[in-house]
Amino acid sequence: MEEVEKAVQLTGSHNSWRSTCINLIASENVMSPLAWRLYNCDFEHRYAEGMPGKRFYQGLEYLDEVELLAIDMAKRLFRAEYADLRPVSGSLAILAILSAFAKPGDPYVAPSVPAGAHISQAEFGAAGIRGLETHHLVLDEKEMTLDAEKCKKVIRDARPKLINAGGTVLLFPHPLEELREAADEVGSILTYDASHVLGLIAGGEFQDPLREGAEVVGASHHKTFPGPQGALIFGSNPDHYRKIKSKIFPGLVSNHHLHRLPALVVTLAEMLEFGREYAAQGVKNSRALAQALYERGFDVLCEHKGFTSSHQVIVDVAGVGGGTWVAETLEKADIILNKNLLPWDDVSRSREPSGIRIGIQEMTRFGMKEKEMETIAELIERAVIKKEDPAAVGADVREFRQDYSRIKYCYDATNFKYEFNVI
Ligand SMILES: *Cc1c(COP(=O)(O)O)cnc(C)c1O
Repeated sequence: MEEVEKAVQLTGSHNSWRSTCINLIASENVMSPLAWRLYNCDFEHRYAEGMPGKRFYQGLEYLDEVELLAIDMAKRLFRAEYADLRPVSGSLAILAILSAFAKPGDPYVAPSVPAGAHISQAEFGAAGIRGLETHHLVLDEKEMTLDAEKCKKVIRDARPKLINAGGTVLLFPHPLEELREAADEVGSILTYDASHVLGLIAGGEFQDPLREGAEVVGASHHKTFPGPQGALIFGSNPDHYRKIKSKIFPGLVSNHHLHRLPALVVTLAEMLEFGREYAAQGVKNSRALAQALYERGFDVLCEHKGFTSSHQVIVDVAGVGGGTWVAETLEKADIILNKNLLPWDDVSRSREPSGIRIGIQEMTRFGMKEKEMETIAELIERAVIKKEDPAAVGADVREFRQDYSRIKYCYDATNFKYEFNVI
């Protein structure tokens, strides 16, 4: 069939294209070769509902053991009392948490989208689907952190059932201890959406939400945490987990995409072993890239505080063509990143925002360090500021990328014997 040939061809083209690009999308990453190998397995074809040992289907003897390993390792890595790896996406994990602690019509507090929230935290995402009355935490736009005093006032006034900190634009840690004080005053649960920074948390960088006052953490595990696409929930209070569990199943997930689980065991192990090194290098790289862009005339946010403490760099490009033009021009040069709303942009401008967001985690995994960040800044400068032909810049991008094709911070996949084939 013509369509099949086309799909095979398109998939191949995508694979080889993205392997020669400088990938800077802050929400993406690549699995290690061993995780990727285990992902392609028969678990993909199977069904499980419920918890290991208490399934509604037969045939899961081996899967149960794999899932228990993953749960145990996630608890260890995040020093949590419980972990549930069944949510198949971050948005569903967030919806499960919201559903466990708030009913339709209940007040709820989260950052606004221009202030860094993901759509799932917002009134037009999962919070709206759950019918919550959303109030916004207040961002200090200069500092790019939540304004603790103003947020406390919002919480005292709104008396929410649930506060959902964390977010998708996250340069600096949120003031969780202060939010927790206000949460305790009004009897609210403090949750943290760690989707973006999960790999940094695992590596001891950024902030540790459970130690700083958050009680429940929901996160996708494929952004800075380099696992397969999917999500998890963990936390400090087993009573909370009883409420969350039934929202996951039978609430929102029936089968939980089982082939994720062996790949997750590998990723969790690699993060336990190499996570500190990876996360530390990641933060060094984002700071180095921010500094190098700043020196080339880019309006990088938060120069006065070292630009960033995470894997992200945010640049105001309103003066050099706008977020859409810059992102599309860089794509023509095989530098892949996304346009992004800045805190002062109106939500209605999401198709024409003033900013771009850059994430260094994937290129860090391929072995890039501070020196390579300088090269990336120079390539971006050539396409965006010097207005060089993007195709010419792209040729240099592809040549540069050739030296960074092996994933670091992981086990050597050739050390393991596989006795199974993909059918
Ligand atoms: C990416 C993201 C999500 C959603 O994750 P999906 O797996 O894409 O559904 C939720 N919250 C935050 C903060 C995110 O960055």
